[in-house]
Amino acid sequence: MNKIDKLNFDNTYSQLPDNFYQEVKPTAVKNPFLAAFNQDCANLIDLCTSEKENPKIAEYLSGNLGIPGSNPIAMYYTGHQFGVYNPNIGDGRAILLGEVRNKKNKKYDLHLKGSGRTRFSRQFDGRAVMRSTIREYLCSEAMFSLGIPTTRALCIIGNEDKVEREKSEPGASLIRMAETHVRFGSFEAFYYDKDYENIKILADYVIENNFIEIKKEDNKYKLFIIKVAERTAELIAKWQVFGFTHGVMNTDNMSITSLTLDYGPYGFVEEFKQEYIPNHSDHFGRYSYQNQPSIGYWNLGKLVQALQTVISSDEGVEALETYKNVYFNSYYDLMFKKFGFQKQVEKDRKFIDNTLEILEKFEIDYTVFFRKLSNFKKVKNKAEDQYLKKLSVTSPDLSEWFEKYRERLKKETLGDNERKDLMDSVNPKYILRNYICEQVIREAEDNKNYDEIDRIRKIFKNPFDEQPEHEELAIESPDWAKDLVISCSS
Ligand code: AMP
Ligand code: MG
Repeated sequence: MNKIDKLNFDNTYSQLPDNFYQEVKPTAVKNPFLAAFNQDCANLIDLCTSEKENPKIAEYLSGNLGIPGSNPIAMYYTGHQFGVYNPNIGDGRAILLGEVRNKKNKKYDLHLKGSGRTRFSRQFDGRAVMRSTIREYLCSEAMFSLGIPTTRALCIIGNEDKVEREKSEPGASLIRMAETHVRFGSFEAFYYDKDYENIKILADYVIENNFIEIKKEDNKYKLFIIKVAERTAELIAKWQVFGFTHGVMNTDNMSITSLTLDYGPYGFVEEFKQEYIPNHSDHFGRYSYQNQPSIGYWNLGKLVQALQTVISSDEGVEALETYKNVYFNSYYDLMFKKFGFQKQVEKDRKFIDNTLEILEKFEIDYTVFFRKLSNFKKVKNKAEDQYLKKLSVTSPDLSEWFEKYRERLKKETLGDNERKDLMDSVNPKYILRNYICEQVIREAEDNKNYDEIDRIRKIFKNPFDEQPEHEELAIESPDWAKDLVISCSS
């Protein structure tokens, strides 16, 4: 394990041609302090636990002091935002401090978000607020524990600068980690610049660093786009299955290695609703829950277009077809598990779709419903009646649904207890509802109590376990939370 000034940097992105990035130092912040520190991520970069107590740690992690071996750059990319191409994006408030290679030879980007202005900042301030860093820190770690590919979060560094948003807010920055921060938009940038040589350089770079298994193949670019298609489809299938809604699926927020990237106005579906839109500013619902699979397809189309100088049009079409097939298969495979089905019976897909309609009709909480469903028994019993009553909807539709479910379960060989174990391992008990983040934010902003951040993070590390002492976090959101509004501002 290393001290902060002895990390093993292996900065590869800054060796690419100059127009891939801008070399830029983070802008200093006032009186930085460590508001949250994630030992799990520190371990991934071989950073010593005791460094949390290093009096200079906040200076280093805020960017006020350069970390020896780092080589800060702002990455160039563009992208389609809400369906419209924007040539002026790039890291406007985040900086790749450097890449750390750990003892197991795995490399992680250290990416400082809220680092101050860069060449790509446009008219914006380059800053981030405490509120949005808490939301990203908690959710990225909760997603990881759910088994959804994601960037990770090493720490939150608060500061005493005021940041102007709708109102004046406390500033903060976040260090996130990922195997790479290359996005679909990194390729689009060079495509629209007609800089085709750099597209090849970038593709080779990503293959070398993140898709090494195909490096020696003759048709490596084809395999690359097919793999991106598969992984993107698998990622979005997982989002749907857990009810995660990203909120801003612009192509610059689509990771080339299919990590959930850039946590802004995200949300988990609560009372089930296909048209759920977490982002208050998304007036037409382009990025609603139900649109995510098709937006993933649309975004992949933009990547295929950007890669057209290295892949053929047939290969591009094949990638898009792959996306569709992998998406549907992954989605339903995971959904079968949620219901405790081991066999796939004809009409199961229809049954799943129909269940979601029922949940939506009766405004039933998606997560609570599936978690409780594991208690269902093949033989009708008293507990079941109580469960139905608790759903606080008594309707023939619902009773009919439970009878259909019982009939379907008869085709399974698993006993009630085994099925419960299987279902509880895929249906989380703990999901990071927006109101939970909001409570942590209130503590941080109003009372300067930051301890809640890591306390909550730790609870959500075990989302599938029963944690009787935290039962209050496993139920539907309280009524006051229904009015919570999450905007793009961060
Ligand atoms: P996002 O919506 O966070 O994905 O951001 C879209 C683009 O705007 C990215 O290139 C960001 O770097 C940039 N950006 C967002 N907020 C700021 C800010 N406060 N200052 C500078 N650039 C920003
Ligand atoms: Mg972004």
